[in-house]
Amino acid sequence: MAVTSRSLTVLGSSAGFPISGFACSGYLARIAGQRLLLDCGPGIAGALIGADATAGVDGVIISHLHPDHVLDLIPLGYALMTEWLTEGRTQPVPVYLPPGGLEFLQKLSDLFGHRNWRFEENGGNAGYKALGAALARGEDWLLTVFDAREYEPGDDIVLDGTTVATFPVDHRIPTAAMRIRFEGADLVYSADTRFLPALGDFAAGTDLFLVDAHFSGPKAPGGLHMTPADAGHLATIANAKRLVLCHLGAPEDCASAQQAAAAHFSGAIHTAFDTREYSL
Ligand SMILES: [Zn+2]
Repeated sequence: MAVTSRSLTVLGSSAGFPISGFACSGYLARIAGQRLLLDCGPGIAGALIGADATAGVDGVIISHLHPDHVLDLIPLGYALMTEWLTEGRTQPVPVYLPPGGLEFLQKLSDLFGHRNWRFEENGGNAGYKALGAALARGEDWLLTVFDAREYEPGDDIVLDGTTVATFPVDHRIPTAAMRIRFEGADLVYSADTRFLPALGDFAAGTDLFLVDAHFSGPKAPGGLHMTPADAGHLATIANAKRLVLCHLGAPEDCASAQQAAAAHFSGAIHTAFDTREYSL
C-alpha cells in the first residue's frame, strides 16, 4: 500500500457485519506524524497491523458502542500486550470512548477473566514488569495497555497537539462525528447517523467528508443511517471538496450509490473500500 505523509486509509468500511469479507468500520488518519484510528470494528486490528506492522497507534477514538465499531479493541489489546511483553513497550494507547465506554470496556474485558491473570515475578523486560505489576495489583491488563477515557460528543479531544472536534449525531445511542484539522489537512467522519443538516454545518468547508451511506434506495428506513442521496445532500450543505461514501449496506451497488449521491453533490465522489487511501 502506498503511504503518503498525510492521509486517510480505509481499513474497513463494512456496515454491521463483514460484508463480502471486508472489515467493519475503521479508518487510519496519518496527520502531523501521528497515527489516529477512528473506530475499531471487527477485522480492524488485523488490517491495522498489516498496514504498518504495529498495533501502536497514537490514539483511538470510538464513535459509538455498536459492535461493528468497537469489538476489535480486544484483539488490538492483545497485539499491544504482545508488544509490551516482547518489545518492552510501556506506553498505553489513549482510547477515547463515548459515555458509558469505560464500564463497557471493563465488562467486555471481564468476560475473558483478564483480571485473574498473573505473571511470573522478576522476569522479562520493562513492559513485562509493568504489566506483571498491574496484574499483581488486581488491575486489568487490557486497561493497562489502553489508557481508556470517556468524552462527551461535542467535546474537543486533544492528542499530542492534534485536536479532534466531535459533534453529537443521532444514532439512538451516544454517537459522535469527528473533525480533524491540522495545517491544511481537514477531514470529517460522520460516524453512523440519520440525516442531520447541522452535521453539514459542522463539516463546513472540509476537504474530505466520509459519510454514512448505508441504505440504498430513495429513503432511509428506521432513522439510524443515511442513503447515498442524503450523503450527497449533506456534502453540499458542507460545501465539501470530496465526498467518500462509507458503511454501504450493499457495496455491490457502489456505482448506483455514487450516482444517487451525484444527483445532490457536484464535487468528487468516492466509495470507501478496504485499503483505499486518500491524501489530505
Ligand atoms: Zn455501524
